[in-house]
Amino acid sequence: MLRLYEGLKLHQRRGSCSDGLGRMGIIKSNGFIGSEPMDQSTGGIAQQLKPTSAVAGQSVIVPQCNICGNSTFLAFNGRAGEQCGQCYSLRRHRMAFALYTREGVLQNSDDPRAAKSVLHLAPESALSARVSAASGSGYVAADANPKAYGIPCMKVNFPDDFKLFPDGQFDFILHNHVLEHIPGSFRDHVNEFCRMLKPGGCMIFSVPGPTTNRVTIEGGEHLSSDAERLAKFGQRDHLKLFGQDLAQYMASIPGGDFSLDGLSSNQRAQISIPPMSTRFLLWRRHR
Ligand SMILES: [Zn+2]
Repeated sequence: MLRLYEGLKLHQRRGSCSDGLGRMGIIKSNGFIGSEPMDQSTGGIAQQLKPTSAVAGQSVIVPQCNICGNSTFLAFNGRAGEQCGQCYSLRRHRMAFALYTREGVLQNSDDPRAAKSVLHLAPESALSARVSAASGSGYVAADANPKAYGIPCMKVNFPDDFKLFPDGQFDFILHNHVLEHIPGSFRDHVNEFCRMLKPGGCMIFSVPGPTTNRVTIEGGEHLSSDAERLAKFGQRDHLKLFGQDLAQYMASIPGGDFSLDGLSSNQRAQISIPPMSTRFLLWRRHR
């Protein structure tokens, strides 16, 4: 099946980037071309996303940020269409938002007895306000460097601080690009997170390269310099390089069900994400 990802008509310009990335591109008249019909299998997502329009027998998808509604996207780190031009969300934020919507993280309830308990690690600014508003007093933001966030945030240093959280505390545990920063065995870490889920609770998370055809490499905490970690793991503060054994391990954890995100290429295109990139992982504890 033909599927094309095109950040069409990339008009690059010099821009001042607050993140110091230097050269930045802006996409105008951007779009995605695909031969695939709209995927209706995930109801809420399909309804949330915008329809396509037909051009010369092909369906053309005009991407729109599902967080803020903006339809202009910027290049980021050399990746066309990565960053929303209005709320500055990245691919993984828009993907997370789509999954949070589908899985009920953002569902509000007027019944306080139905309030959700949510652990949100490294709470991204593009997401935390929405998750917090839907969770009320049950929202727990946490990070090793809480002052980096402009919201009340608990200081945690994993793996030592896993002991702070009892079994079955959370309805949702959310983390994006966090596991690769925790020293030790990822198997121990995901075991701890799964332990912290209530029956029916769900962990929604991402790491770099989880479906890459390699075996996870760990041990960055034992290297003596940031330069060594950069060379081995691709970033100065990364302690692991994940491979497909992460998903295999998640699927082997007893007491719950593992799945990949399940978003189709069209659903990704609608929020400016290339086909099958930015994979998310979900593990839901049995009721
Ligand atoms: Zn946006």
